[in-house]
Amino acid sequence: MVDYKKIGLVNTREMFKKAVNGGYAIPAFNFNNMEQMQAIIQAAVETKSPVILQVSKGARDYANPTLLRYMAEGAVEYAKELGCPNPQIVLHLDHGDSFETCKSCIDMGFSSVMYDGSALPYEENIRISRQVVEYAHKYDVTVECELGVLAGVEDEVASEVSHYTKPEEVIDFATRTGCDSLAISIGTSHGAYKFKPEQCTVDPQTGRLVPPPLAFDVLEAVEKKLPGFPIVLHGSSSVPQEEVDIINANGGALKAAVGIPRKAAKSAVCKINIDSDSRLAMTAAIRKHMAEHPDHFDPRQYLKPARESMKKMYIHKIVNVLGSNDKL
Ligand SMILES: [Zn+2]
Repeated sequence: MVDYKKIGLVNTREMFKKAVNGGYAIPAFNFNNMEQMQAIIQAAVETKSPVILQVSKGARDYANPTLLRYMAEGAVEYAKELGCPNPQIVLHLDHGDSFETCKSCIDMGFSSVMYDGSALPYEENIRISRQVVEYAHKYDVTVECELGVLAGVEDEVASEVSHYTKPEEVIDFATRTGCDSLAISIGTSHGAYKFKPEQCTVDPQTGRLVPPPLAFDVLEAVEKKLPGFPIVLHGSSSVPQEEVDIINANGGALKAAVGIPRKAAKSAVCKINIDSDSRLAMTAAIRKHMAEHPDHFDPRQYLKPARESMKKMYIHKIVNVLGSNDKL
């Protein structure tokens, strides 16, 4: 049993309380490799932002759970070395698919876990969520649960259609599970291909696809039912068209990727998950570098610009979208 507090991590409780009161959101950046982690920590330290490092089941399978856990421990020391005496870093499991997965993360030093039972029948979702919360709270680990289904693909989490969260269920769900935060579905979607072209309209000026509007009325209704309760948005990458263009100009073949408009971040949501934008920034920088330097073969030559590009994107999100800068 690893005590996350002993390795310098924090849970989300205080962080979310401050974010809700301050009207900003905490960035939750997925990571599965060293360059991403370096870019995230550099961005958080330079902007004085709290940050959630999140690990999906796919990332655990890709990188190894033990390595990722020690990377997060290293991240705390790295932040201090970069000049941040009291970094606020959460190590969070993204989309835990079972009680066992959540327990294994809690036991190895995660300070926060998500249990995603959104695809299960309502009562079954409550039952397992409650079980995860009871175990997590024994160790002061915070728990995010999910109500309503997001469309799209994120590692093994995939759904064809989204079902908006039903606002009339949220009080019952939050009370009976005891969860610390709630991910809701208002039409955001996982992955880089968030919407089919036929769901979008075309901007007559640029010719680009404009995604369908999010169900802000659902968000507002949920906030009315649970005033001040931490709400989480998944699938909120904006999928910058410039990155998609760079990828396609350098041998890539991404088709009509469409992301979430920036307005989604301007609500009272206190945690926003960003994964695809980091993947796009990294891939665009690598493809561009490779195309410009066909003689390079040292991974550091192309991973360095990739890291810089991700860092720039993280800083942009923190400062211009979430507003979590200057909060340490
Ligand atoms: Zn998600």
